[in-house]
Amino acid sequence: MKDPFHYLKVPRTDPPVFTAELRVRRFAEIHVPFKAETAALQADRCLACGNPYCEWKCPVHNYIPNWLKLAAQGRIREAADLCHRTNSLPEICGRICPQDRLCEGACTLNDGFGAVTIGAVERYITDTALATGWRPDLSDVETTGWRVAIVGAGPAGLSCADVLVRNGVAATVYDQYPEIGGLLTFGIPEFKLEAGVIRQRRTILEEMGVQFVLGTRIGRDLPFTQLLDQYDAVFLGMGTYRGIRGGFPGEQLEGVELALPYLLSSARRILDFPQDERGYIDMAGQQVVVLGGGDTAMDCNRTAIRQGAGSVTCVYRRDEANMPGSRRELHHAREEGVQFLWNRQPVAILGDRQVTGIQLMETRLGAPDERGRRRPETIPGSEQVLPADRVIIAFGFLPDPADWFGDAHIDTRPNGLVSTRGEDSEFAFQTGNPRVFAGGDMVRGSSLVVHAVHEGRSAAQGILDYLAACTPALRTAAL
Ligand code: FAD
Ligand code: SF4
Repeated sequence: MKDPFHYLKVPRTDPPVFTAELRVRRFAEIHVPFKAETAALQADRCLACGNPYCEWKCPVHNYIPNWLKLAAQGRIREAADLCHRTNSLPEICGRICPQDRLCEGACTLNDGFGAVTIGAVERYITDTALATGWRPDLSDVETTGWRVAIVGAGPAGLSCADVLVRNGVAATVYDQYPEIGGLLTFGIPEFKLEAGVIRQRRTILEEMGVQFVLGTRIGRDLPFTQLLDQYDAVFLGMGTYRGIRGGFPGEQLEGVELALPYLLSSARRILDFPQDERGYIDMAGQQVVVLGGGDTAMDCNRTAIRQGAGSVTCVYRRDEANMPGSRRELHHAREEGVQFLWNRQPVAILGDRQVTGIQLMETRLGAPDERGRRRPETIPGSEQVLPADRVIIAFGFLPDPADWFGDAHIDTRPNGLVSTRGEDSEFAFQTGNPRVFAGGDMVRGSSLVVHAVHEGRSAAQGILDYLAACTPALRTAAL
């Protein structure tokens, strides 16, 4: 019989982290995984509320109380089965979802008792099950004969492939990069998510029958029309990759970098992949200023620290309470030696050929904008110069629709995002071309892994519904 006051006797315990001194010397995950006993004790803190708000707040609507109960009982393989019923990448979401804003933020115990450590238990369940040989059971799957091409091996594409093969559809995933994962591999640094975790997921997906064609850019190495000719339907999960610039003078100076090429060059170096023409971007010994307050800025800060930067200062135009990045990452960045300058608006990057500094103005928060966030207003006369050898611009990403979208009847909105029918329409995530579906960042805008997972899975259901509803003749006749 479960002790009803267990959650009072056993406080919330997060997985321990390595010391900052050790962390900054290596590109490796910073959390020490739960041991079996701690995972069971933490999972057992769940109150099994009648109306589990955590499930509603989780974008993939995981059966959280159910798998927490199984984990508390040590029934890890059953828990892993259940985790995979709703989530294609539970070990990854367990590591990098901003749980404080999602499932754990909605946990009833978050009201003064400490939320259940849902993310860490999800990670523990999946890591442990996979390490002991658990694999998805596809023994009941009947082959349909349908073939679907997926463009993009990021979380949206991988999740779409996962659901398709579980439903007997042959899924082939194309990606321009030499490894799967999209931003999981080539954006998010190893101190948050090690590449080995994604390689393990690749092995599982391949064992399930997913085919990967890597190092192939659709539209350059292979025409999109060839996919339409060879497959019954196509899913696009191509992400958003156009870095937003500040629009202030000096952005073209030597020493100014955009966040994603910087993180990509670091990932290539660590994973031993060839660099592009820009080469490896190294911050060793430099006075680095990172502009931005989101998760990408945090990842740049902490990458520069690990490269041996002389100093790293992160400049953000709102205050700490209004920064968009995760509190957890801010805390880790501070521990690792990153300095933060809040309420500062960059107005110019200074230098003749090479960056020497950045001109800032102090800000105060004014009236809310259309999204409800208070607008920063510069304070006249507050100009100041912050010396810098290198500046990294981490202001987020814009969609970059491919030039072949128009010919393929894939409609975009004025902001460049691909327009699809919502998940509740007849064929979820279908684009203007009935045989083409899309999801993830290229539809929603830069967002979270768990949203890409959700949309990839929902689009797979849309594709299954569409293929089931269409006769072969109709499918061939479609655009
Ligand atoms: P992507 O992951 O971008 O994958 C798209 C794939 O499509 C890429 O592999 C690309 O190579 C491929 N592709 C594009 N065009 C073509 C083409 N023509 N031919 C072939 N392949 C193509 N989210 C979190 O939840 N937690 C975090 O901590 C977090 N940190 C982040 C840190 C950084 C630095 C960044 C940039 C993002 C972070 N995110 C985080 C957001 C998250 O990574 C994205 O929301 C998610 O990866 C989007 O998934 P996706 O599948 O839509 O696109
Ligand atoms: Fe929480 Fe993310 Fe897991 Fe959902 S997928 S339970 S939001 S960690």
